[in-house]
Amino acid sequence: MIEQNILAIRERMNQAAVAAGRDPKEILLCAATKMNDAERVRRAISGGVDCCGENKVQELVQKQKENAYAGAPVHFIGHLQTNKVKQVVGKVDLIQSVDRLALLECIEKEAQKQGICQDILFEINIGAEESKSGFTVQEVYDLVPRMGDYPHCKLKGLMVIPPISDKKGANRKFFEEIRTIAVDITSKKSHNISMDILSMGMTDDFEDAIACGSTMIRVGTAIFGARYYK
Ligand SMILES: *Cc1c(COP(=O)(O)O)cnc(C)c1O
Repeated sequence: MIEQNILAIRERMNQAAVAAGRDPKEILLCAATKMNDAERVRRAISGGVDCCGENKVQELVQKQKENAYAGAPVHFIGHLQTNKVKQVVGKVDLIQSVDRLALLECIEKEAQKQGICQDILFEINIGAEESKSGFTVQEVYDLVPRMGDYPHCKLKGLMVIPPISDKKGANRKFFEEIRTIAVDITSKKSHNISMDILSMGMTDDFEDAIACGSTMIRVGTAIFGARYYK
């Protein structure tokens, strides 16, 4: 089931990339593993996902204990409280969900303490939604020239969760905006920054995201099936 789902997603990723005139190898598949246990995570990895993304610190810690992510990079993609930063910095390959200045500062401190450089993405709240975390576009532009102040963090790109919509193609304008911002930031050649990763696109909209320049899609439902929240 999981293995076949991944094959089907790969096929759809390939088609979307080719249709957009892109090389399918430019786009990575991140399995959004929340609520799936170590065994199912292992199946996704052997089924060929490029990396795993975990939402909750508790799940991350538990599954790392069970060696669930062996053979694949693991990313943090959920809302991260500053009092849990210690459990994530240096324990994951990429923190995709750096969504506010206080968190960036906390990650920098912890990475410095550990003597490492932590790869991060900035999460942008593109719809400027009250209920959602993330930097505004303006905040990102303000921070970019100051990334030299955070030498133990390496900004590798942007992540976005667009507003929920059931209209097909409704998120394209947001994905295109993110891509434009990334191109613009790249042209500024700021210190300590690359915009190699544009993490955008989930189960319902990853083909649109690929058409708009995504280099990493985060897929849960299409790999593991529907999640049932208690
Ligand atoms: C759950 C989750 C996803 C995947 O969502 P699906 O719609 O199930 O593919 C992607 N990104 C984040 C941050 C998530 O929490």
